Amino acid sequence: MAQSYDVIIIGAGIVGSMVARFLSKYKLDILLIDKDSDVGMGTSSANSAAVHAGYDALPGSNKALTNVMGVEMWPQVSEELGIPYERCGDYVVAVSDEDMTMLNILLERGKENGVPGLEIISGEEMRRREPLIRPDAIGALWAPTGGISDPLTATVAVAENAVMNGVTVMLNTAFEDFLMDGNTITGIRTNQGDFESRWVVNAAGLYADEVMHKAGVRPDFVIHPRRGEYLILDKVEFQLTQNTILFPAPSNKGKGILVASTLHGNVIIGPNANFVEDKTDKDMTREGVEEIWSGGKKLVPSVNRKHIIAEFAGLRATGNAPSPNPEIDYNQDFIIEIPEEVKGLVNLGGIESPGFTASPAIAIKVIELLKAAGEDLIEKPDWNPIREAPPVFRHMDKHQQADLIAKEPAYGRIVCRCEMVTEGEILAAIHSPIPATTYDAIKRRTWLGTGRCQGGFDMPRVVHILSEELGIAPEEVTKKGDGSPLLYRRTKDVQQDHIVVEDLI
Ligand SMILES: Cc1cc2nc3c(=O)[nH]c(=O)nc-3n(C[C@H](O)[C@H](O)[C@H](O)COP(=O)(O)OP(=O)(O)OC[C@H]3O[C@@H](n4cnc5c(N)ncnc54)[C@H](O)[C@@H]3O)c2cc1C
Repeated sequence: MAQSYDVIIIGAGIVGSMVARFLSKYKLDILLIDKDSDVGMGTSSANSAAVHAGYDALPGSNKALTNVMGVEMWPQVSEELGIPYERCGDYVVAVSDEDMTMLNILLERGKENGVPGLEIISGEEMRRREPLIRPDAIGALWAPTGGISDPLTATVAVAENAVMNGVTVMLNTAFEDFLMDGNTITGIRTNQGDFESRWVVNAAGLYADEVMHKAGVRPDFVIHPRRGEYLILDKVEFQLTQNTILFPAPSNKGKGILVASTLHGNVIIGPNANFVEDKTDKDMTREGVEEIWSGGKKLVPSVNRKHIIAEFAGLRATGNAPSPNPEIDYNQDFIIEIPEEVKGLVNLGGIESPGFTASPAIAIKVIELLKAAGEDLIEKPDWNPIREAPPVFRHMDKHQQADLIAKEPAYGRIVCRCEMVTEGEILAAIHSPIPATTYDAIKRRTWLGTGRCQGGFDMPRVVHILSEELGIAPEEVTKKGDGSPLLYRRTKDVQQDHIVVEDLI
């Protein structure tokens, strides 16, 4: 008989993980599945990491409502879950009269959305606060509630807390179809078998349209991926005076190319916004790199190309759903609904930016929807909202480091020299509530391999540790799951092949 749950969540990105974490408060059997080998490998792994203040989305839309509610929830969520987060504020910088008009529109929109503390400052004041800004900036919108987080750590932390509170996570588990009794969903079919459930939450990100179509819901809803490319600068490049985010005045393509600090001390430049056909197309393009670079230089002219150490791209799940509020002209709103056509589905679709910011609020909306649908949610008396972050060696002072090494000598062995990540941190990641079983899973949890050498030094050592801890051959260790081996064969085997080839000649 198929395993039975109260709620199955499809997709362990930040949205599905938040839904799982907040629902784990209640007496429910919950299953969270993802097709990939780890949580947070989809869009949640590649974005700007901005916790948006909420002046961008049109008032009354789901985007605006969940953004403003989400940004208010982030301080507590990050505190409880040990997620890096800083409410550093952000700036939208104007360099022309048209830009200033846009700043005033954003100011009014933000006020309508209920964003506190918004203020337009002069160009002079902007230069005083951030001397690296272009000298001809004429003004800026200052949003003190804007912030920065770390989406990689965030998704892991949220999903781990869900597991600590009884949620079952199944990775490498792909949703294939719904099990239906008439128009009632009774479960799902996956590549790992069938699972029964009273409720299914569709949090499948880029694939949410395909999932809802399997249930016969919103046949006209289509997700058209919009790629955003990024460049990462080495820590030596420069530090913005405050840890902050600098946006240009937005255009019809979106928020535009930002220059921002990361909480790891780097500077990030990007993203652009270009529609692509393929939901897996995260290739960087030459034109894209030029577009981002000139966008970054427009805000901070002193950036230097020789300090680029990495590049990556993410895909926005841009949908075509109108706002549920008929007064709003918005056909790219978030879908957050229990559709009428079928029973047992909670449908989350088109969760593009600011979906990271909005994710805790979306989870609360899901709970409200379930309650409104008659679900009797009973709180667990022993729900634990706290997930302590594992030790981060580089953030400790000398005494704390010495104490940690005395307790666990593996923390005395540095594996990643650029980012100072120790063997102890790698072992903690492998033996965590959602075990890291690939190179990238360890990278997401520890930040190793992200410095100037981009893993050149640590990778062989990480392969060795993974192989020993998981009891698998080094050749079986992968970068990100099936089909991504790091080692193909032993050098000795190569030599033997070589001899055979020569013999044939
Ligand atoms: C370039 C860019 C910049 C952005 N910047 C910001 C920002 O600064 N601030 C902000 O708030 N937001 C930002 N966003 C948006 C934010 O990243 C997303 O809204 C958020 O990550 C969406 O999370 P998600 O859980 O819905 O999707 P995902 O993270 O994509 O998760 C969906 C999960 O579903 C899984 N899945 C899909 N199909 C199946 C299946 N059939 N079976 C099982 N699992 C399945 C996937 O593997 C994936 O893990 C940005 C996005 C992009 C692309």
